[in-house]
Amino acid sequence: MTQTRSTCPYCGVGCGVLLSPDGQGGLTVKGDPDHPANRGRLCSKGSALAQTVGPEGRLLAPQIGGRTAGWDEALDRVADRFARTVAEHGPDSVAFYASGQMLTEDYYVANKFMKGFVGTANIDTNSRLCMASTVAGHKRAFGTDTVPGTYEDLDEADLVVLVGSNLAWCHPILHRRVLDAKAKRGTKIVVVDPRVTATCDGADLHLPLRIGSDVALFNRLLAAIEAAGALDADYLSRTDDAEATLAAARAASTEPTGLSVELIDRFCRLWIGHERVVTVFSQGVNQSSAGTDKVNAILNCHIATGRIGRPGMGPFSVTGQPNAMGGREVGGLANMLACHMDLGNPAHRAAVGDFWEAPRLADRPGLKVVDMFRAVADGRIKALWIMHTNPAVTLPEADAVRDAISACDFTVVSDITAETDTARLADVLLPATAWGEKDGTVTNSDRTISRQRAALPAPGEARPDWWHITQVARRMGWHAAFDYQSPAEIFREHAALSGIAGGFGLDFDISGLADLDDAGYAALEPTRWPVATRRGGRFFADGRSFRPGGRVAMVPVEWRAPEARRAPRFPFRLNTGRIRDQWHTMTRTGRAARLSSHLAEPFVEIHTDDAAELGIAQDRLVELTSPTGTAILRATVTDRVQPGTLFAPIHWTGETAPTGRIDALVASHVDPISGQPESKAGVCAARPFEAAWFGFAVSARPMNATSDYWAAARSEAGWRMELAGRQPPQDWEAEARRLFDLPQAEAQVLTDSARGVARIAFHEGGRLLAALFAAPEPLGIMRDYLVTMPGEDAITGRASADMPDPGPTLCSCFGVGVNTILTAIEREGLLTVEAIGQALSAGTNCGSCRPEIAALIAAATTKEAAE
Ligand code: SF4
Repeated sequence: MTQTRSTCPYCGVGCGVLLSPDGQGGLTVKGDPDHPANRGRLCSKGSALAQTVGPEGRLLAPQIGGRTAGWDEALDRVADRFARTVAEHGPDSVAFYASGQMLTEDYYVANKFMKGFVGTANIDTNSRLCMASTVAGHKRAFGTDTVPGTYEDLDEADLVVLVGSNLAWCHPILHRRVLDAKAKRGTKIVVVDPRVTATCDGADLHLPLRIGSDVALFNRLLAAIEAAGALDADYLSRTDDAEATLAAARAASTEPTGLSVELIDRFCRLWIGHERVVTVFSQGVNQSSAGTDKVNAILNCHIATGRIGRPGMGPFSVTGQPNAMGGREVGGLANMLACHMDLGNPAHRAAVGDFWEAPRLADRPGLKVVDMFRAVADGRIKALWIMHTNPAVTLPEADAVRDAISACDFTVVSDITAETDTARLADVLLPATAWGEKDGTVTNSDRTISRQRAALPAPGEARPDWWHITQVARRMGWHAAFDYQSPAEIFREHAALSGIAGGFGLDFDISGLADLDDAGYAALEPTRWPVATRRGGRFFADGRSFRPGGRVAMVPVEWRAPEARRAPRFPFRLNTGRIRDQWHTMTRTGRAARLSSHLAEPFVEIHTDDAAELGIAQDRLVELTSPTGTAILRATVTDRVQPGTLFAPIHWTGETAPTGRIDALVASHVDPISGQPESKAGVCAARPFEAAWFGFAVSARPMNATSDYWAAARSEAGWRMELAGRQPPQDWEAEARRLFDLPQAEAQVLTDSARGVARIAFHEGGRLLAALFAAPEPLGIMRDYLVTMPGEDAITGRASADMPDPGPTLCSCFGVGVNTILTAIEREGLLTVEAIGQALSAGTNCGSCRPEIAALIAAATTKEAAE
């Protein structure tokens, strides 16, 4: 069987994968043992990649106004509307919204098209939601957007501090790396996070600071560094603004953190006492109205101690997206040019303009994403191209964004499916190739460029993104500039342009790869940049930066409260984030039944005291209301969030749970420098959702729910759905027939109107087609058993006596449920993650569930000790 080396398309770890097509449209996926990011490991999402390929749900041909069209007609339509709009209203009347899912070559031509030829910098990317604050913080400190660290630093650190990062769930393979370092060299782990997350389970210290107070904590650390005599005087002598920064830190209060003096002192002693310290930060730092200041507060501590750019130490931003870094390299953000060159620098602009032979290079920054969609809403932007992203769900004030796209004069969407909240609003849909079919490069969080290689043929009329853009550009009259025949050609041009950046003394220089021939590009090994005079080096250990004058800068920062203020009407602070087994809006991971089995519906974590006060019980539904939207979510009552705060995941959409679109509740406050929205510090009210009935349905086919609450997910045998409503249906059988679209099928109906209970099953030829269970209370039925039943010949809703209830799935790889693991702990006395793994296999493949297994063991042993 031929094997293709490629890269996982999910998070910024950038794990290498080995793909083996089965010749029938499917493939098997294994971790690449030779890839430096993962050395053969994959997390639950990467391990399930094979379940996400296939024709189901794919957009296979261009569409115009909902009808199938040929490529020529669709491309002509896009080119004509863009050209006419620019001619009538100017270049700034059009915009492009790109994605960290795009490959670097796709990104490069999109940026060149908009900034060099259309003549506007109105191109931004969903990476703005991910790490724009890091970009801005890096630029303030170093003059460029340079990540100083590498993954090897995590292996060699004595202390790893994780700030605003649930690494165990969001970057699981890096978390495994940190845990390995802990096992091998005793690396200490500190988690700085308002929530108790899975990452805390392997940590030595957890600082549950108040949401948005990171600047106060790191200012205190900087003051403690100075007080302890731990400043690196030599490094500081080559640093700008050190004294002002230290003075600001000395004057800062720790009160905003809500942490005890003892806990903060313990953290400071650990940090100061370990020279090899890596501070990893992620969305909890970036997605803030003070995100750039948070980044600089962290950088300040590393700069002050000279702990940067040397083995085992440094600040380290880990990106959410697979190619957020590639987007930064090509200048995919509205305020960047290309290859880390600057839109505001006339020499950079002239050089790029000459290199591209651009007729009208943009000469000022374009609209960052929140402002871009405001301009769509008020009609300043009249033609919009959205590529591989779902802003109608993911942007703050998502309902308003959805309405703005809907009202836009002309919207074109390039995607792999028409079944997204955004694609459903498009005037023109262009079918794109998906992961497994794409060919190009991506750059991960530690600057390693890896190849994504095609292992499967493109289905139907799907074409690569770079082809979409170049075909439109040619039709707009720029044939020669977009006459690429392959991604290899684009890569060579990008690498050559980076040599010009290198000539300006900038960091991003891969000109050593500009002469790669097609065979060399095809065989390109994972390569960390820069690749010019030196390869893959570290930065800033010598104190030299890319700022004018060449000195690193510290930045004085002061804590600011989140922009959205709590008030009696909106007393809760709303935090949002990812879960372990889903990715973004689930257009891919939602297709893998085993990933949906971990957490199958949207939920809100609410503190035990708040839940008691509001009368919200476990597994009841909660209605959230903010100034911008509403949601209905399942209650998870827990002490893992702080009183007065809520946490809800970002993944659910109008396609999977229309009341779970959590970004509808998030106000569009942004960081004033980076323009990154504050997605983790919204405000809202919570109250019980008064459901008269709760339902659970399984079906071999998709269902048509219309109830007040529903959430659909894939299962091995078809689909599963949670439902609820304010009023019970008059006729349960009629309701079930409509839900399953089974007007004629043989039905078995059991209803007890006195108790409000219904159980309806539909059969055909003795096989179960679908079933609905309903009751006035949340249903305590065996969901993980029932979801296997469609297609089978019996259904009871209750396990037979010899079939124990496995409980909700914890280990997605081996389908091991919580109850199975608890039984092994309690009855068989298996008290280590390894012992559970040996007995049940749980946690022995990707390892993503190991923190949760450890937490179950800890909870069970604590309970036993108390008894
Ligand atoms: S950690 Fe998981 S999701 Fe991220 S790149 Fe690796 S396998 Fe993919």
